[in-house]
Amino acid sequence: MVNDYKLGTKCLHLNQEGENAHLFGAVSFPIYQTATFAHRGVGESTGYDYTRLQNPTREHLEKVVASLEKGVDAIAFSSGMAAISAVMELFQPGDHLIIDEDLYGGSVRLFQKINEKNGIRFTRVDLSSEDITPYIIEETKAVFVETPTNPMMNVIDLEALGKITKRNKLLLIVDNTFLSPYFQNPLELGADIVIHSGTKFLNGHHDAIAGFAVTADEVIAEKIRFVLKTTGACLSPFDSWLVLRGIRTLAIRMERAQENAFCIAGWLSEKEEVTRVIYPGLVSHPGYEIMKKQCRGFGAMITFEVASAEFAKFILENVRLIQFAESLGGTESLITYPITQTHADVPEEVLLKNGITDKVLRLSIGIEAAEDLVKDLERAFALYKER
Ligand SMILES: *Cc1c(COP(=O)(O)O)cnc(C)c1O
Repeated sequence: MVNDYKLGTKCLHLNQEGENAHLFGAVSFPIYQTATFAHRGVGESTGYDYTRLQNPTREHLEKVVASLEKGVDAIAFSSGMAAISAVMELFQPGDHLIIDEDLYGGSVRLFQKINEKNGIRFTRVDLSSEDITPYIIEETKAVFVETPTNPMMNVIDLEALGKITKRNKLLLIVDNTFLSPYFQNPLELGADIVIHSGTKFLNGHHDAIAGFAVTADEVIAEKIRFVLKTTGACLSPFDSWLVLRGIRTLAIRMERAQENAFCIAGWLSEKEEVTRVIYPGLVSHPGYEIMKKQCRGFGAMITFEVASAEFAKFILENVRLIQFAESLGGTESLITYPITQTHADVPEEVLLKNGITDKVLRLSIGIEAAEDLVKDLERAFALYKER
């Protein structure tokens, strides 16, 4: 029955599917705040032994996320980075991965400082414009991408890429944080593993850190579960509950944030002080047609460039409603400075090539009244002129 529901309903009504919730008719799934579970006798487990391995609240959240992403299993982690780190344990020293050139800074740091040290090799390719085929070598095991990318909002055709990875028996790993399962389901487009920073749109309230690895392959799921059990970066019962609570409003938050994003992108496009607006919902965006084909929406992330670094910094310091903070995907709008924040550890030549300069700002649009967000930016722009 649940599988017939539309996404917006699935965000809520899976809450009634867990038998534990039915015990007393609780409408909100309970928080099983326990580290361990008593056994009735030798060899008689309730199915739950120790919270690092299983916990009913986390398990329920995992079912909800798996259903939203159309996977067979979702494995919840204590952060998005913990999820990516666990997925990287699927590889051995000597293995080679092709990764997109424009990725979340934390992923770049993980690959370069930890995975490379452990013998895994990477080739960076701009997958929004280049074919991976010439970069595939015997040791290539996987391709890792985000779409739209962070922060330059490049769009990658997942269906086309998925065909090549399938043909070459490579895993396609897609970080779907920017659009959330509400707008995009990479597993349906050919991905083997979907990653989420649950901290962002899924939780959506800037109040918990979480991560997910979702897959439609039972064998991969089992391997990732083994890594979680063994290395231990499990999501706590309380944070699992917070994310469950956040997901209940995923549909309306995504719709409202996107509506606001269109409004802000339009406003920025008309400003002569703004030299470039990158939002994949604008017809002028080079990835617009692919977005229309593979997604149900365009999201709420906008990157824009202004004429000088001085002006960029002035905006950061003079917006009031929009907060100058790292992160994205929550109810409150945030503005970040990728060059010193999210992408501070990305090598300089990569920053330059990708166009991440000191004039580039990234907005995560929240669910405030659009008019107030525009007014906030208008005020900061006017103050700069008056200086
Ligand atoms: C934030 C983010 C991550 C990392 O997730 P954490 O929950 O902060 O560990 C990974 N990928 C993308 C695209 C992100 O925005």
